[in-house]
Formats: sequence, structure tokens, C-alpha cells
Amino acid sequence: MPVLNRIADFAPDMTAWRRHLHQHPELSFDCHQTADFVAARLAEFGVDEVHRGIARTGIVAIINGKVPGGTIGLRSDMDALPIHELTGAAHASTTQGNMHACGHDGHMTMLMGAARYLCETRNFSGRVALIFQPAEEDAGGGQVMVQEGIMDRFAITQVYGLHNEPAIPFGMFHTTAGPIAAAVDTLFVTVIGKGGHGVMPETCVDPIVAMLAMITSLQTILSRNLGAADQAVISVTQVNAGSASNIIPETASFCATIRTFDATVQALIRRRVAEIIQGTAAAYGVAADITYDVGYPPTINHTANAALAAEVARQVVGAPNVNDACPRKMWSEDFSFMLQSRPGAFVLLGQGPGPSLHNPAYDFNDDVAPIGASFFARLVEAAQPLP
Ligand SMILES: [Zn+2]
Ligand SMILES: [Zn+2]
Repeated sequence: MPVLNRIADFAPDMTAWRRHLHQHPELSFDCHQTADFVAARLAEFGVDEVHRGIARTGIVAIINGKVPGGTIGLRSDMDALPIHELTGAAHASTTQGNMHACGHDGHMTMLMGAARYLCETRNFSGRVALIFQPAEEDAGGGQVMVQEGIMDRFAITQVYGLHNEPAIPFGMFHTTAGPIAAAVDTLFVTVIGKGGHGVMPETCVDPIVAMLAMITSLQTILSRNLGAADQAVISVTQVNAGSASNIIPETASFCATIRTFDATVQALIRRRVAEIIQGTAAAYGVAADITYDVGYPPTINHTANAALAAEVARQVVGAPNVNDACPRKMWSEDFSFMLQSRPGAFVLLGQGPGPSLHNPAYDFNDDVAPIGASFFARLVEAAQPLP
């Protein structure tokens, strides 16, 4: 698999960085040691500026090219997961209960590899903003970095992100124009009736029957309110009610996960969910308390930037190893907030077969790191070429 020669030279260093990060996973916004390690490496490479403490432990570092121009942002997430590691690797987590099970250790390593190369060569115009972001898994650190103003502060004009994927063959890139990952909303409903003896339903208001009618009716949103081409998922995933066979309970509750790609579809589903639940509640004489949590928005690639990323990927790994019209993923990403703020693209890089992301036996494939670093480095040279 061809990679930039200079990056191949320091592949062993990248493996060492990656395994150090893997041994020291940190969660959410608390990526303190992680940020120290990354900032120290960036300083060794000779980046021009390191700005720390953005979104608590996030970093933006700047590398200047040979002539003035725009600023391209390259983003890596930093955080790990609260999972007990079962890889048995020599470089396994030393923090009980936490592990890098999503490969963000590998993402940081690839971005550091690109940074080292770009500091040495600087064959680009303008500047590179290296964005290291905490709290991807749980709290939208990407949104916080945008809210804290990194796009304007560093005059970022376009932005790119990359995620590894074990389900994609080793060294293969996937991307697409338009949506690549879904929006995630979560619905919580409590149905309030009137409890009593199971043999005297006429003296009660049964919340279970009302809840079941709501759940059944929610399924009609996809089949009756959306067009055949609209992609969405509504799954009721948890139901709670009752405590004994002879008691009609006072309340019943359920929750659902809702995935969409389009803001109009998302808004329509949100409206229909409320109408169906409140209308059904009225019909059954119960009250309904609805909480609709809006999560990460869809990750929507900009067409020209996705095309550029695919072209650069073809230069690195060859055309047969690039799918530039890949299927959309139903999972979500907080890189979506950066793509709402600036044009750019998100790409997936195949790890080769192995345990899935978020599995306790997952480990980032170190052989992928030089490929990802070469992609980021070439992307900068292609997006902001020297005159
Ligand atoms: Zn993850
Ligand atoms: Zn991840």
C-alpha cells in the first residue's frame, strides 16, 4: 500500500505514540494527559502555534505554509470509552474500566504523523489548523469547539475529518457527497393514567393500553407520513410498566431512538411524534409527558470537498481502493457541527477485519496509521497548493 516515503520512515514512531495513547485512555472532556502528550509531540515537530484549553482539553495547532493563503482544518477526536479492555495486548489500557475502543488513539496518531511531515516539508500555501477535540463519544466536544469560536479565531476555510472502520477492507477509503452519517434524536415518554385493582379496570385509566397504541401508531410515521425515498429509523427500544399481575399501574414509559439525514424529515418526525402521542393520550384519557432530545445533527459532506478527498485518497491508495459513493451510516458523529460551520468532508478508512468499534476486543490497526497520515498530508498539499 503506497504511503509517502517520509511518513513510512517514521511509522515505528507513530506506532509508539499510538500505543502510549492507548495505554492512557481518558474520557469525555477530561483528556488532560492526552493533550499534554499531543502538545509535546507537536512542539517537537516545530508547529508554529499551539493553542490549548479549547473545550477544556482541546487543542488547535497551526502550521504555516510557504506562502500566505487560506486555512485548512484537520480534525481528530481524543476521547476513549468507559469499557473494560479485553484485547490482552501488551499495550492494553492501564486505566481500569477505560479504553480506546473507537480508535481515537489512532486518529490522533495519524494527525500527528501528518503534522510532522507538514512541518518538515511545508509544500502548501496558507496554514493548517490541527484540531484535537475531546468528548466526541458523549458530549459533543466538536460542537463546543465550534461554539468557542475556533472557525473564526483561526480563519478556517475548509475542514476534514477521518474515522477508522473495521468493517471496511484494510487501507480502503469510503466517502460520499451529501449525508454520510445520521442525526440522532432520543424520545422519552411517560404515560400517566390512574392505577387500581386489575379486576376493576372501569375504576382505572390504564396507561399500558394507551402506551401500546402510541407505540403502534408511531410506526405509521415512516410508512404513511414520509416519502418512499426518505431515509429514517424510529425504534422503540425500551418499555417499562407495572409491578404485579393484579395491579393496573399508575404510569407506563417508553423510549425510542430516531435517526434521520434531512432536517425537513427530522422536523416532520418530531411534529408527528408529538401529535400522535398527545392525540392518543386524549383518546385514551391519559396524560403524556414527552421529552424529545435533539442529539448530533447529520454529518453532511459538501460535494466539492468530498470529491477532493476522494481524489486525494485515490492518489494515496489507488482508485480500486476508494469508494466515493459509499452507503450512509446510521450512526452519528459530532464532526457534523464542524461541517455545519464550514465546507468540508468526512471519510472512513478501512482497518481490515476484526472486532467492531466499541467492542472490548477492538484495537486500532497500527499498519493503517501511515496511510491515514499520508492522506491528511496530501490533502493539505492538494487543497492549498503552492502557486
Ligand atoms: Zn465511538
Ligand atoms: Zn469514534
